[in-house]
Amino acid sequence: MDVYGLLGNPVEHSLSPPMHEAAYDHLGLDARYITFEPPTDAAQRAIESAATLGVAGLNVTIPFKQDVLAAVDPDDLAARIGAVNTVDLGTDPPTGHNTDATGLLRALEHHDVCLTGRAVVVGAGGAGRAAAFGLAGEGMTVDIANRTLESAVDLAAEVTAVDAGGSATAYPLEALGGLLDGADILVNATSVGMEEDRSPVPREGLHADLAVLDAVYTPAETRLLREAKDAGARTVDGAWMLLYQGVEAFERWTGRDAPVTVMNDALRARLG
Ligand code: NAP
Repeated sequence: MDVYGLLGNPVEHSLSPPMHEAAYDHLGLDARYITFEPPTDAAQRAIESAATLGVAGLNVTIPFKQDVLAAVDPDDLAARIGAVNTVDLGTDPPTGHNTDATGLLRALEHHDVCLTGRAVVVGAGGAGRAAAFGLAGEGMTVDIANRTLESAVDLAAEVTAVDAGGSATAYPLEALGGLLDGADILVNATSVGMEEDRSPVPREGLHADLAVLDAVYTPAETRLLREAKDAGARTVDGAWMLLYQGVEAFERWTGRDAPVTVMNDALRARLG
């Protein structure tokens, strides 16, 4: 039996196990997906132990996404983002990947959103870094607005330094209203709106030519998405990003096409 799993602390509310196990069941794979909750200072030991025990692959979540970098060989994108959320233990040494970035791009593509023009990313934490590097890697111009301006400035400089055709500029959150004028894509990569009826984006700035993805997935329809829909914008909820980061991990580990609809159904059933 192949064992996959999630490394995090806490992991009890994770939506990954039902999503991956639904895929194994559907394809008849002899595999299980288990959650692991090591002490918060044990990222490196956890990876070494998993490799020793023959675990085939691990997803990684808070608080380990940065710490596992020391225990794996990260690919270029994960190294740039500075965070790993998927580890392939079938390689020696284990390799680290960041499927949040590719998951976000695939979620947008699934909704027929063209990855061209100018994107506005709100937030410069883990999800913001994944969004900014992912979208700039597609050649988009990326404006990054963050509450702590310094993090946005650092991220914009790092993104612009990568020779991938994209570029990024940093702004304070207060600039958001003006930034949305003429923008093609808006990504909320802050935690604002999670389990609360707040939006980080002034509703007056939203318009019908925008595609809006909210990385927040609880609730599925955040205030930002509700207001974006009212403004006529195309909306993509955070569960699509969560789905496609899982799809990417599944395909990397198993070498098979993921049963995307089955995984989506399992995820949506758990989200309610
Ligand atoms: P993080 O690294 O802790 O970053 C949090 C971000 O939110 C920072 O930019 C922070 O700004 C900003 N922020 C927090 N509170 C704020 C407030 N009151 N006003 C304005 N900005 C605020 O967290 P993360 O890992 O990037 O996660 C961010 C969100 O994305 C979470 O809701 C997470 O669940 C979600 N996420 C979803 C997926 C998915 O697959 N759908 C994947 C990853 C993350 P400062 O820099 O100023 O602190």
